[in-house]
Amino acid sequence: MAENAQQKDWNAITDGEFRRAAADFFATHVPQHLRHLSRRPRWAEVKDWYLTMSRHGWLVPAWPKEWGGMGLSQSKSLVYLEELERSGAPRVMDQGLMNIGPLLIARGTDEQRKRFLPKILSGEHTWCQGYSEPNAGSDLASLRTEAVIDGDEFVINGSKIWTSVAFDASHMFALVRTDKTVKKQAGISFVLIDMNQPGVTVRPIRNIAGHEELCEVFLDNVRTPLANLVGELNKGWDVAKALLGFERIWSGSPRQSTLALLRLEQLARANGKMDDPAFVDKYTQVTMDVLDSASAYEHFAQIMRTGGSFGFEVSMLKIWATETCQRVTELMVEAAGDLGTLSGEVDVQGEVVDVLYPFLDCRAFTIYGGSSQVQRNILAKNVLELPS
Ligand SMILES: Cc1cc2nc3c(=O)[nH]c(=O)nc-3n(C[C@H](O)[C@H](O)[C@H](O)COP(=O)(O)OP(=O)(O)OC[C@H]3O[C@@H](n4cnc5c(N)ncnc54)[C@H](O)[C@@H]3O)c2cc1C
Repeated sequence: MAENAQQKDWNAITDGEFRRAAADFFATHVPQHLRHLSRRPRWAEVKDWYLTMSRHGWLVPAWPKEWGGMGLSQSKSLVYLEELERSGAPRVMDQGLMNIGPLLIARGTDEQRKRFLPKILSGEHTWCQGYSEPNAGSDLASLRTEAVIDGDEFVINGSKIWTSVAFDASHMFALVRTDKTVKKQAGISFVLIDMNQPGVTVRPIRNIAGHEELCEVFLDNVRTPLANLVGELNKGWDVAKALLGFERIWSGSPRQSTLALLRLEQLARANGKMDDPAFVDKYTQVTMDVLDSASAYEHFAQIMRTGGSFGFEVSMLKIWATETCQRVTELMVEAAGDLGTLSGEVDVQGEVVDVLYPFLDCRAFTIYGGSSQVQRNILAKNVLELPS
């Protein structure tokens, strides 16, 4: 029988020892054909890998053991994610694992936890995040999708947009307007919606790289029981804010730029760019940017490891990590010369790389999870105390 990670007390070992155990698990179990994909895979492709993690108890590192998790500290959860990324594992349907699961553990009712958490672990339920709307992205509190109470159900009408992988989701957690008469943040509720019912229409949107990952979701007289309200009625804004904690540091990790820098170096060596002093100058600049980004990340990770907390200054981490990644991938396209305009893998003097995908993919990093401009506003107002 497979040894189950859930039975171990991982927090009794050092972070270094845990890192080796995690690296070993992923090296052994991540399917070769799914490593380092240049696209987000569909659920059908990665479901077996998801269930393998679940069977071994490695699916939800940060969840408490009582609910099927590894009970890892925040610092070890970070190590887990770093090793998962390093292994080249494909992205799975992770909104249930990273967002709604932890949220129900912290803010849901016991009945909701019992009803939903086991089905996330078994892969029966896959989740998407229904926040953004056509006129409510950065200004999310302007959302207009409306839920009206009818007996013991909500009846929901409206539409969501940019919903990642909604076509593979069985459920959506959504912010909906339940009171139009109060200040905009005060009339929002957080509800759980079954996607497999009449009135839910999902329409994929093709992204800049030509892949279908984002969706529009139309909700037309869609019903959900009042028992699917998370937190109190009209208090959904506070519920959604509770989700932001861990994401704020993870979105500032230097992992993507570090990987891109490695690819850039391979590419530049292969086609002789490293003999060009003007290129080496640019390469050195982005290398220093990646190192700066890594040390800023380390600073915040260290605060987290020692149980501390940080404030609005963490916004600089996301700006620096994501914009650095964009600079590195821009240089990759430049280093590839004419081949940098081709999509898919290209052979640059014997080095086979996908040059364009990382460049296109990281355009999105400065948009989701709070755009760079919005993060700069946060820093200006709350850290530098500049006037609005
Ligand atoms: C790859 C990807 C995946 C996503 N997945 C999901 C998902 O699963 N679920 C979901 O709900 N949403 C998702 N989103 C949506 C994402 O949250 C929004 O795109 C984001 O909040 C920005 O909103 P918007 O696109 O409406 O742009 P807008 O808010 O309209 O912004 C347009 C531009 O104006 C700038 N801007 C806006 N307000 C200000 C301001 N006050 N000051 C200065 N500049 C400003 C922005 O920085 C941006 O450059 C995803 C987006 C992407 C790119």
